[in-house]
Amino acid sequence: MDPGRTPVTGSAAAVDEAAWASAVAAVRGVPLDAEVQLICHVNPDGDALGSMLGFALGLRRLGFTRLRATFPGEFDVPEPYRALPGSDLLVPEQEAYRSAPLILIFDVAAESRLGALASLLGGVSRVVVLDHHASNTDFGDVNLVDPGAAATSVVADELLTRLGVPLDAEIAECLYVALTTDTGSFKFVRTPAVHTLAARLIATGISAADIARRTFDTRPFGAMKLTGEVLGRAVLDRSAAGGHGLAWTYATTADLERHNQRPYVLDALIDPIRGVAEADVAVVIKELTPGEWAVSLRSKGAVDVSAVAVALGGGGHRLAAGFTAHGEPEDVIMRIRPLLDAHLA
Ligand code: AMP
Ligand code: MN
Ligand code: MN
Repeated sequence: MDPGRTPVTGSAAAVDEAAWASAVAAVRGVPLDAEVQLICHVNPDGDALGSMLGFALGLRRLGFTRLRATFPGEFDVPEPYRALPGSDLLVPEQEAYRSAPLILIFDVAAESRLGALASLLGGVSRVVVLDHHASNTDFGDVNLVDPGAAATSVVADELLTRLGVPLDAEIAECLYVALTTDTGSFKFVRTPAVHTLAARLIATGISAADIARRTFDTRPFGAMKLTGEVLGRAVLDRSAAGGHGLAWTYATTADLERHNQRPYVLDALIDPIRGVAEADVAVVIKELTPGEWAVSLRSKGAVDVSAVAVALGGGGHRLAAGFTAHGEPEDVIMRIRPLLDAHLA
């Protein structure tokens, strides 16, 4: 390729042509009235839901009539994503098609992120995985995994294009929510391709400003108060990570109950913690169900937090990763601390 040019999407490079062809064949290979099950990861975020629903709408445009989309765990769609186009296709995990000939999986690095839905795999279904985690375990029959893609929606967009689905405003809204979620509203962008895709999505007529306000800048008063409390108990550990520093905090189910908030409101906490100048590493420990914590890890570059998360049973990207933990927040930090030193970049 001309070195002065960049690919239109981030996915072309990392996923080989044979895998794209297999994915297209898998979709084209089932009749339009076949059951098609779409699945994204537990505690779904904007990329998981947006790439899944955007792709589901694309399949609907192709004429597929029996589409269901789901995710493992309690059927509690985070408020900012409830009005996403295609939400009518969402069903609780108990209502997933049990023997669909085609299963499409979005933003899932490993089967452990599928909870009870992992049992749907391994049957007669063809399983196509669309993802962008370097730690992806290639658990599908076809694995469209591009660690260089800013979001799973980049991969979804490429497959929709290859299937000949014309982009429309509803699909674009889903993919745009996904893209802005995983790029921190374009703060983590490393290639012009992300903005090229954003421009194509916005050209369908969607309002980027409205979507950003609804998705990132709207929260209940109680969530704002909860955020204040949780940030107020943050700890700065300057000697952690080989002296690069660690800032961390935690939130409990009791905190959520006191403020009458749902767990998704805790996802935004990592951003102010990540902004602490004296720390390279940011950690937020979130109690989603009693005794079980979802841990978010971020680094500015000194530590490979994906390696840290993998060592603790999770996964993610070099600068953004997570895992599930049990015990008290202090115990979780004691487990993380030596691994930060072991995985200095
Ligand atoms: P989060 O902190 O939840 O925004 O997640 C940051 C990154 O880590 C995302 O790419 C997630 O997919 C990944 N991740 C978070 N939790 C887990 C987990 N328990 N297992 C594997 N990957 C995870
Ligand atoms: Mn995700
Ligand atoms: Mn993602």
